[in-house]
Amino acid sequence: MSYVFKFGGASIKNAEAIQNMVSILQRYQKERLVVVVSASGKTTNALEDVVNAYYNKTDKVKEYLDKVKLKHTEILNTLFPDTTDPIYADIHDAFIDVEWILEEEPQDTYDYLYDQIVSLGEILSTKIVAAYLNKQGVTAAWVDARDCILTDNTYRDANINWEETLKQIQRIVPPLQEKGLVVTQGFIGGTSENFTTTLGREGSDFTASIFSYCLDVKGMAIWKDVPGVLTGDPRIFKDVTLLDKISYGEAIEMTYYGAKVIHPKTIRPLQNKGIPLHVKSFVNPEGAGTVINGEKVAEYPSVIVVKEKQAMLKIVSNDFYFVDEARFAALFNTLAEYRIKVNMTQNTALAFSVCVNNDPDKNEPAKIQALTEALANDYTVSVIDNLKLITIRHATDKMVNRFAKGRKIYLEEKIRGTVQLVMGASEKL
Ligand code: ADP
Ligand code: ASP
Ligand code: MG
Repeated sequence: MSYVFKFGGASIKNAEAIQNMVSILQRYQKERLVVVVSASGKTTNALEDVVNAYYNKTDKVKEYLDKVKLKHTEILNTLFPDTTDPIYADIHDAFIDVEWILEEEPQDTYDYLYDQIVSLGEILSTKIVAAYLNKQGVTAAWVDARDCILTDNTYRDANINWEETLKQIQRIVPPLQEKGLVVTQGFIGGTSENFTTTLGREGSDFTASIFSYCLDVKGMAIWKDVPGVLTGDPRIFKDVTLLDKISYGEAIEMTYYGAKVIHPKTIRPLQNKGIPLHVKSFVNPEGAGTVINGEKVAEYPSVIVVKEKQAMLKIVSNDFYFVDEARFAALFNTLAEYRIKVNMTQNTALAFSVCVNNDPDKNEPAKIQALTEALANDYTVSVIDNLKLITIRHATDKMVNRFAKGRKIYLEEKIRGTVQLVMGASEKL
């Protein structure tokens, strides 16, 4: 049987975690398996620090890169006590590739440089995982995802060239599967000119679903630090329960509203081919986890999705004209032009209110400021920041009360069973 497994940062955060991952893979040695791996732990964040230091020409570049080196050296020292093992040279070479870039003055665009540098995280993790698998007697081939996932050159948010990707994956992967497992990187792709691209933060889930689609596999699994998909984020809520089955549609809705457990782009390719997605625990691999497939589920419990770092824009027409269809269309076009992500809207005759992403790390407050200025001729825009958006799917009155009662709600909306509430970021949940 053929499967694609995806292991995220937490599942390979240190040497012990990698050993645990390998013990899971040992059970599936006989299957035709592609293993998609993200960067270890918080390496991607650490590499973002390197990029920022380099791009802003500060003197911290080496210090930040050394942190990444140290962490990977620690992992290597535990997994490969023999320091003459070829993996040491391999990892050294991967760092050299990035150090070459860092030695030059930054001349290219930020997004381009970001992809060339941040992709190192996945290169390192997959080299280590593949070498360790082979050392443990599990034959594994290391495949460069940049030869498989072909994209345009929209750096940091690359679009897949499906036709080329399908061809490449079908050409490269099956022959290697005759011999053993295939290990490759999540998150990264390559352009036709051989530059590295990335698919957006958290994009490894999407990579796994692209491989699943192109290889027409029997199933895909993502291995997590949670038992499966829960009724809410266990980091925020204590009283969550496991959803043992959800439909593709429900999964798309949940991720659309911001449930972080799966990347939003993951579901569609799987749905297209009817490939089931299993969300399983690497802590308890025997657990059933969650299965996401095309079957209808009769009833769901309430599911809560919390989206932090939100702002509300109240857009009021200066000339007391109604906000009519034409004006709506123009406003949405302007929002799209400034790449502002709208999560909820509401309108009255003269005002249009939207709840939008406002993450300083993604430069979103500046985008909102630019939008406000662009609209100034026709509209007055007031901004309330420091908000969060709570979405309750399959809402019950009791659940809505739990979140709304006694709180200042800035915006509220109910569409069929889904209730959305915008409240202050500091409200305790
Ligand atoms: P990975 O690195 O494997 O992609 P993530 O950190 O992106 O893992 O996703 C796993 C985390 O998602 C969990 O640790 C959990 O805190 C969070 N999470 C948010 N919403 C949910 C949910 N509804 N069910 C399960 N986990 C959730
Ligand atoms: N390593 C990347 C990130 O942290 C991709 C991923 O983990 O999915 O965003
Ligand atoms: Mg993730």
